[in-house]
Amino acid sequence: MQDDKLLQDYDKLLERVYKKIPPKSGTSDLQLPEPQLIRVGTQSIIKNFRDISQKLKRDPTLVSRYLLKELASAGSYEEVSGQLVLNVKVSRKVIEQLLDIFIKSYVKCPTCGSIDTRIEHRGKIWILRCEACGAEQPIKAF
Ligand SMILES: [Zn+2]
Repeated sequence: MQDDKLLQDYDKLLERVYKKIPPKSGTSDLQLPEPQLIRVGTQSIIKNFRDISQKLKRDPTLVSRYLLKELASAGSYEEVSGQLVLNVKVSRKVIEQLLDIFIKSYVKCPTCGSIDTRIEHRGKIWILRCEACGAEQPIKAF
């Protein structure tokens, strides 16, 4: 009986300790799949583009617009296949770097680091709204 009591106390103690620790946040919850990039002639195709966008909780159209702008390239997102076709030769490294910047600017909450966020459009103003802590941060529209 004594042991049971001790265990219960220990459980309660653990519970209290864990409650004090803020939930793990940041890009650690964000297991972004590695971009599957193939090059066909002068085009680069990100085969798993839809999966990547879903992980970012962003519309693939929005993410593709960002990449195209940053790469100063034309291209198109193919709804059916979930692929992004870029009319430019680009390395996976570059795509990864751009996605990283995208996460920092348009996904991750600057206040608490959560990626549980969404973009709200208020007229011409874009706001990054965090579902975890409620912070709102104006972001650069594109
Ligand atoms: Zn937050």
